[in-house]
Amino acid sequence: MQSIVLKSINSLAPSYAPARLPSNGKQFHIWTIGCQMNEADSAKIAAILQEAGYTATSREEDADIVILNSCVVRQAAEDKVAGKLNALIQLKRQRPSVSVVLTGCMVTRQQEELRQRFPHVDLFFDPSDFDQLRQIAPELDDLEDDLQQLPHYYLPETTPGAAVTAFVPIIYGCNFLCSYCIVPYRRGKERSRPLLDIVTEVERLVERGVREVTLLGQTVNAYGHDLPGDGGLADLLRAIDAIPGLERLRFLTSHPKYMSDDILDAMAELPSVCEHLNLPVQAGDNEVLRRMRRTYSRDDWKKRISAARLRMPEVTVATDIIVGFPGESEEQFAQTRDLLADVGCDKVHLAMYSPRPGTLSARWEDDVPHFTKQRRHADLERQQERIATELNLPRLGQTVEVLVEQHAKGRWTGRTRGNTLVHFDDDRQLLGRLVDVEVTRTTPWFLIGQGVGSPR
Ligand code: SAM
Ligand code: SF4
Repeated sequence: MQSIVLKSINSLAPSYAPARLPSNGKQFHIWTIGCQMNEADSAKIAAILQEAGYTATSREEDADIVILNSCVVRQAAEDKVAGKLNALIQLKRQRPSVSVVLTGCMVTRQQEELRQRFPHVDLFFDPSDFDQLRQIAPELDDLEDDLQQLPHYYLPETTPGAAVTAFVPIIYGCNFLCSYCIVPYRRGKERSRPLLDIVTEVERLVERGVREVTLLGQTVNAYGHDLPGDGGLADLLRAIDAIPGLERLRFLTSHPKYMSDDILDAMAELPSVCEHLNLPVQAGDNEVLRRMRRTYSRDDWKKRISAARLRMPEVTVATDIIVGFPGESEEQFAQTRDLLADVGCDKVHLAMYSPRPGTLSARWEDDVPHFTKQRRHADLERQQERIATELNLPRLGQTVEVLVEQHAKGRWTGRTRGNTLVHFDDDRQLLGRLVDVEVTRTTPWFLIGQGVGSPR
C-alpha cells in the first residue's frame, strides 16, 4: 500500500524550482501572535518575500515592510495586536515610505471599520490569498510562480540543521460552529489541500534538511472530507511516512468527532508518526459541551484517548480547556477537573472564556465572574502540575531520543517523540541531529539531561 502511494506521487509530483530574484536591498519584519497556523502563514509570507529578493530583519525600525499577523481567538490577543498596531503610528510618521500590513484573523471581509480604526495600515490581507502581497511588493510580479503553491519555508541552502522542524497546513478553515469560537467566521469553511501538493512540499522540505514536519489544521483529522475520492488523514500520513529522510511526523489540532480508528491505526503502524495526540476536550461536563456545540460527550473523548492508549501505550496526550464558559456551575467545573485527573494528560492548554462578538455564546450573559474564572484556571494549573510531575518522574535515569532544535543559554534544546521539551548539556555540534539523552532531572514542564551515544 505504502509503496504504491509513493510511486504514484513521485511520478506525478510537479517539479518545483522557483526562480529567486536578486536582492533588492529591501527588508521586511514579521510579528506573529496566535496559533501554529499563523506561524506557518508568517513563514510562507517570509518565503514569498525572500523569493522576490527581500531579506528578513529582526528590527522593525529597519524594515521597508512591517507585517503583523494577528489573532482574535481571545480578547487579550486582540488587545495586544491593537497595541502593536498603534505603536507603529510613530514609525509610519518618521518613515512614511514604510508599508504596514495587517493579516491573520483580525482581518475581516468588511474592512471599513478596520480602515477607520487603523488608517496608517497600507494593506489588510486575508491569509488565504497570498496574491494580495503583490500590492506592497511589486517585485512579486516578476516571479512566475503561483504564490499560493510556493512552499511554506524559504530554505535555499542545505545547511545541516538550518531548519529542523516545519509546519505544513493541510486543511484551512473549519466546518464546526462551536458556540464560543470566532475561527469559522474568519477562516471560512474547510478546504483541504490536494494530497499531491502536500507530499511534494514535504519532499522539498526534507531535501533541504527538515527532519520533522507538523501537519496543521483547525480540524486536521477532517482532512480530505471535502476532496473527491476516499482519501483522508490516514492516507496522507501513509504517503508522507514513505518519504525517505523524514524522521518525525506530527499533526494538530484533532477534533474528537473525527478521531477515527483508521487514523489511530496509522499512527501506531507508521514509524515516522510520533506517539502524540493533541485532542481538545474543552470541558468535562456534558451539558457545557452541548452548549459549546462540541458534538461529543465526555465519554466519547475518554474512549478516543483509551483507543489511542490501547494501540500506543507510550502515547502522550495534550488537550485544551476553557474555564468559565457562560453558565458553568461549580459542579460542572468539578466535572472538568475530575475528568482531567482521571485521564492524566501530559499537557493542558488552559483558557478563561472570552466572549467573541459575532459568535453564538456572545449573545449569552458572560455570567461567571472574572475572579471565579481565575480561581478555576489556577485550580486546574495546580492539578496539572501535580499530574505532569507524576508522569515525568519515572523518566529519571531513562534515555530519551531528542531531535535537537536549538542552542540557547549554553544548553541544547529539543523534543522527544511525545513532544516533551528536553534541555541537555553536550559539547558536540548537535543542531538538527537525533540524540539520546540520559535524563538527570525531571520537572512538570521539561526534562534535564546529558547527551550520550552517537548522534544520528
Ligand atoms: N480547533 C481546535 C478545537 O476544536 O479545539 C481549537 C482551535 S481554537 C483557535 C484554539 C483554542 O482557543 C481552543 O481550543 C479553545 O480552548 C480556545 N478558545 C477558542 N475560543 C475561545 C474563547 N472564546 N474564549 C476562550 N478560549 C477560546
Ligand atoms: Fe473553533 Fe470549534 Fe472549529 Fe475548533 S472546531 S476551530 S474550536 S469552531
